[in-house]
Amino acid sequence: MPSLYAVKIEELRGVGKAKAECFYRLGIYSVGQLLTYYPRTYENWSDITDISDVEDGATVCIRATVGSAVSSNYTRSGKIISKLAVYDESGGAELVFFNNKYIDKMLAYGAEYVFRGKASHTLDGVQMVAPTFSKVSEAANLSPIYPLTAGLNNNFIIKCMKQALSMLPDEVNDPLPDEIRRKFRLFGLKAALLNIHFPENEEKLELARKRLVAEELLVLNLGLRRLKSHKRSENKNIISNDFSAEFEALLPFSLTNAQKRAIGDCMNDMKSPEQSLNRLVQGDVGSGKTAVAASLCYTVIKNGMQCAFMAPTEILTEQHYNSLKELFNKTDIKIALLTGSLKESEKKAVRSGLESGEIDLVIGTHALITDKTVFNNLAFVVTDEQHRFGVAQRAKLLSKGNSPHLLVMSATPIPRTLGLIIFGDLDISIIDELPPGRQEIDTLLIDSSKRDRALGFVRKEILRGRQAYIVCPLVEEGDSDLASAEEYAAELMLNHFSDIPVGILHGKMKPADKEAVMADFQRNKLKLLVATTVIEVGIDVPNATIMMIENAERFGLSTLHQLRGRVGRGTEKSWCILVSDNTSDISLERLKTMCTTRDGFKIADADLKLRGPGDFFGSRQHGLPELSISSLADTRNLELSQKIADYILMYYDFEHDDMYRGLRGEISRLFKSTGDETLN
Ligand code: ADP
Ligand code: MG
Repeated sequence: MPSLYAVKIEELRGVGKAKAECFYRLGIYSVGQLLTYYPRTYENWSDITDISDVEDGATVCIRATVGSAVSSNYTRSGKIISKLAVYDESGGAELVFFNNKYIDKMLAYGAEYVFRGKASHTLDGVQMVAPTFSKVSEAANLSPIYPLTAGLNNNFIIKCMKQALSMLPDEVNDPLPDEIRRKFRLFGLKAALLNIHFPENEEKLELARKRLVAEELLVLNLGLRRLKSHKRSENKNIISNDFSAEFEALLPFSLTNAQKRAIGDCMNDMKSPEQSLNRLVQGDVGSGKTAVAASLCYTVIKNGMQCAFMAPTEILTEQHYNSLKELFNKTDIKIALLTGSLKESEKKAVRSGLESGEIDLVIGTHALITDKTVFNNLAFVVTDEQHRFGVAQRAKLLSKGNSPHLLVMSATPIPRTLGLIIFGDLDISIIDELPPGRQEIDTLLIDSSKRDRALGFVRKEILRGRQAYIVCPLVEEGDSDLASAEEYAAELMLNHFSDIPVGILHGKMKPADKEAVMADFQRNKLKLLVATTVIEVGIDVPNATIMMIENAERFGLSTLHQLRGRVGRGTEKSWCILVSDNTSDISLERLKTMCTTRDGFKIADADLKLRGPGDFFGSRQHGLPELSISSLADTRNLELSQKIADYILMYYDFEHDDMYRGLRGEISRLFKSTGDETLN
C-alpha cells in the first residue's frame, strides 16, 4: 500500500500536532505505518459473566441493560462522580464513572451494552468502577490492546486504527501475489489487516497473524538472500596454491575429518575465480575451529597476502595470538597483536607493519577496524565468535582489503532455522566431530545445601594437581560486579581455599590485569579461578577439570554450555557443577537438559523454545532489521517463509517481475533501519 504510506498521520481526524508527536515517538509518521502497529494482545469480550456470578476483584465482562438515569455529583475538589444502575437476568449492579460529563449521552436508558471492568462487592452489591463499554451490536469479541506510549491511550489508538482501516481501498495492493497466497493458503492483505486489529474471531485472528508473519519473514528471507548474492563478487584474491598439508605438519596432532572438510570447503571457494569465500564455520566448543582458521591463514600468507583475525575480547585475542605465535614459531610468518590496551607506540608500530606489508597476520579486537588501521594487501578476514559482532563491524573490516575472503567462526550452536536467517548471507560448514580422546563431562545439579561438599570436592581435585573455575553469582543490575566478585572470592579463600592460589577475573578489570591473571592460570600458577562470565568465550586451559556455576538458573542454556566447554579439554575426566536453589519447573527442566546432553545444537534448540532467541545475540547486535510482528523463535513460520522464498526464486524472476514490485518495496522498507545500501 504505497499510497497509505504517503498519507501523513496528521490527516487522521483527531490527530493534531501534539498527538502526531506521540506517534512519531513510536516511529509512526504515516497511516500506512500505523496499520503495521499491531496489538500487543486482545481482550476477550465474548466471555460474558452473569452479574450474580461476578467474583470480588475480578475483571469481567457483563452484558446488561441500563436501568436508571445517570445521577451525577460533584466532589469537594470539583470532580464529577456519575452513578447508574444496570441489570441482567441474574441481578443488578452499580456502575461508577469519574469526570465524564457526557456519560448520560453515551449510555441510553433501556439499552443493552457490554461493560468490561474490575468488579467489587460492596455493601450495596456488585459495583464496577470506570468500565469500558460497547453497544451489544458493536461489541467486538476480541478487542485489541496496543503497546502504549505517553499521550496515546488505547481508545484513541483504536479510533485512529478504525479510520486508517476504513481508508483501505477494496483492492489493496498486496505485496504477496494471488498465486503465492493461493499456493501457501495465506489471507489477503486487507483481510489480514482487518482481522489483526479487530478480529472477527480467534480463528481469523490466527490466519491474519500467520499471513502477516509469513510476509515479514519472507521479506527478511528474500532481503538476506539478495544481500548474499550482492556479496558474491568475483574472486579478487585467487589463492591458487594450497598449503594445507604443509600446515598440518606443524601441528602436534592430526586434524579431524570434520576439520579437514571445513578447510577443504574454504579452499574450494578461495581457489574459484567466480566467487570469494564467504563462509560460517560452526562447531561446538572444543571442536578445533582455531586450527581451521590457522590453516587457511597459513595458505593465504604463503600465497603472498595478508590476514586479519578478529576476536571479541582481549583475553580471547591474546590467547589466539599466543597459540598462533607458537604454532608459526618455526616458520617465517610475521604475526602481530593489536588491541586497545597496547601502548600508543606499540599500536603505531603494528599499524605501520601492516601498511608496509611486513606483518602477515594480525590478531586483534575492535582496534582492527578503526580508520587508522591500513593494510598492504589484506586478502582474508577471520572473525571469531561472530554473534558478538554486528554485520556492520564485519563489513568495516572487510572494507580494508579488496573484497577479501571472509571466514566467520561461531561456537554458539544456533538452531538450523535461526542460523539460516542470522547468517543468511553466508555459506555454512559444520564441524560435527570433536578431536579424539576428549573426556566425558559429568554435569551435576545441586542446591546450596550441598555447596560445601562440592567445594570440598573442588579442593580435592586441586590437590590432585587439577585446576578449577567457579563462576560467581550474577549480579543484579546496578550492583557492582567488582565488589560482588571480590567479596565472593574472599569468602571462598577464607573458608575453603586458604592454602590455594586463587585468581579473580571480572569485567571491570583493566585488560592488562585480566591478562596477567589469565596467564597465571594458564601457567598453572593459579589453581582456582573465580570469575564472572568473562571466561565464557573460548578460553582454553586443558588442565582445568571443574566448572562450578553459582545461580545457574540465571544463565541461558547456551551460556552454560559455553562455560561447561571450558573443561573436558584435556585428557582428565571433568565435571560441571550447577548450583541452583530455584525450584520452578521450567528452570529445573532447563538445568536438567544440561545434565542429560552435551550436544550444543540440542541445547540451543531447548534454549530457543524456553527463552526465545534473545540469548543468541544481544538485543540488536545481530544487525538484522527490527521485526514488527514476527519472532525469530517461531521456527514453524521461519520454515514456511524459507519455503515460499525458495518457491519464488525457483519459478519467477523475482528481481524484475512486475508482480513482485510490492515485495521488493517491502524489502527496502524493512532493511532501511540497518543501513544496508545494497538493499535500498
Ligand atoms: P574451539 O572450536 O572451541 O575454538 P579450539 O580451536 O580452541 O576449539 O580447540 C580446542 C582444543 O583442541 C585446543 O587445545 C586445540 O589445540 C585442540 N585441538 C584442535 N584440533 C585438534 C585435533 N584435531 N586433535 C587434537 N586436538 C585438537
Ligand atoms: Mg575458539
